[in-house]
Amino acid sequence: MNIVIMGPPGAGKGTQASVIAGKIDAKHLSSGDLLREAVASGSDLGKSVKKVMDSGALVSDDLMIDLIMDVVMKLVADSKGFLLDGFPRTLVQAEALNEKFADAGVQIDKVINLDVKSETIVQRLSGRRVCTKCKSVYHVDSLPPKVKGICDNDGEELIIRSDDQEAVIRQRLKIYDDSTFPILDFYSKSQEVFQVSGELQMDEVTGKILEALS
Ligand code: AMP
Repeated sequence: MNIVIMGPPGAGKGTQASVIAGKIDAKHLSSGDLLREAVASGSDLGKSVKKVMDSGALVSDDLMIDLIMDVVMKLVADSKGFLLDGFPRTLVQAEALNEKFADAGVQIDKVINLDVKSETIVQRLSGRRVCTKCKSVYHVDSLPPKVKGICDNDGEELIIRSDDQEAVIRQRLKIYDDSTFPILDFYSKSQEVFQVSGELQMDEVTGKILEALS
């Protein structure tokens, strides 16, 4: 099954996509993770996108489309389902994806939107801590590690993502409203967009998404 999971930054797309991918045997594809891997590897691509990501702005459509389409089309060639998280983020990206899929005879089976209020997002993201190594995600209030600042899984240091500073979060939310939210309208012209509240407990959200997929 090919799924696009939408929602503002901090809605829980990444967490949900990785849980759901395990349950339905699809590949979780996070555009943000692909970019962070490029930054961590020190590649030219990584160097060119780091500043943009740190500021909370969007990486250019051309670069993003090239990067993600490569991976998506390999999955398509292997007849492997996928869950897209963080892509598309602009109408240009959504249109490019549709065009590629039309050429390849592939379709997006389900579009899920996680709906979360802005204030919940600011509270969630500013308390988020991420393991530098295994990428496990914690929250200082709702999901603290056993030892402050240390990952339970591998003992590595937990960090605050540079784009999780409050001013940057507000900037990312504005960009979401301006550039990403309109994609929901775009998709709803051709298919149902399943609305799921991202304000619920994590496992309740997973349950609602699975219901929408069934
Ligand atoms: P995320 O982990 O999905 O919140 O993405 C982190 C950052 O990566 C975003 O704030 C953007 O700078 C960049 N990014 C991720 N996905 C995209 C995309 N589809 N288009 C443009 N920039 C992106």
